[in-house]
Amino acid sequence: MRKERGQEGGEEARQEGPSKKEEEIILACRLLEKHYKGRKPAVKLRSPFQTLVATALSARTKDANTLKACGLLFAKYPTADALAKATPARVEPLIKSTGMYKAKARNIIELAKRVEKGVPKTIEELVELPGVGRKTANCTLIYAFGIPAMCVDTHVHRISNLLGWVSTKTPGQTEMALREILPKRYWCGVNDWLVKHGQEVCPANRPKCGECFLKNLCDHGRSACAEGNIINTC
Ligand code: SF4
Repeated sequence: MRKERGQEGGEEARQEGPSKKEEEIILACRLLEKHYKGRKPAVKLRSPFQTLVATALSARTKDANTLKACGLLFAKYPTADALAKATPARVEPLIKSTGMYKAKARNIIELAKRVEKGVPKTIEELVELPGVGRKTANCTLIYAFGIPAMCVDTHVHRISNLLGWVSTKTPGQTEMALREILPKRYWCGVNDWLVKHGQEVCPANRPKCGECFLKNLCDHGRSACAEGNIINTC
């Protein structure tokens, strides 16, 4: 890719026409948006504080576990003010389903104390908070404030590489690569769409390329179909 498309606000800033791969990426994003946009979120969150805490709790666990923990936690401690006054012993049983619950309880209580006056709106401030890495910070910007950011979890990292959008080893590298290649208008949606795609069509170790609407735009899907190495027919 020849221009910093995201930073310059999209392909409009480009001097040259898009490459074949860039056209494929845009077409794939349009298909993902058409397919997944408008689905109800798994967890209903009522404030930036709840979004930040839910994202912190979602680390290394399944959505169902986060959903269960958020329901219990926010029923009892719906605001930063309330959670800041809680003790780890009271919080731990509520979030036990998410794993690493002792560390997470300490972190979210400390988080609550730090954001009683409001959740920060910049990635630099967010990553200074306890237990908040770039993934949580980026997701909070998107889902709490609608600020374009690049939230890369395991689904986004894995599927971006399968599609051939990036060739990276870590989610951190993927975040930076996607910031370069994805038009900014897709930043807020791509995490949600690829997570849903990973859950429904492209799970780890068993992508259903034969029934995938991206198979003609995906490096892995094309080679799997060419080799006949697929689940379902192409
Ligand atoms: S074609 Fe296969 S590898 Fe590519 S996104 Fe679809 S299911 Fe995943």
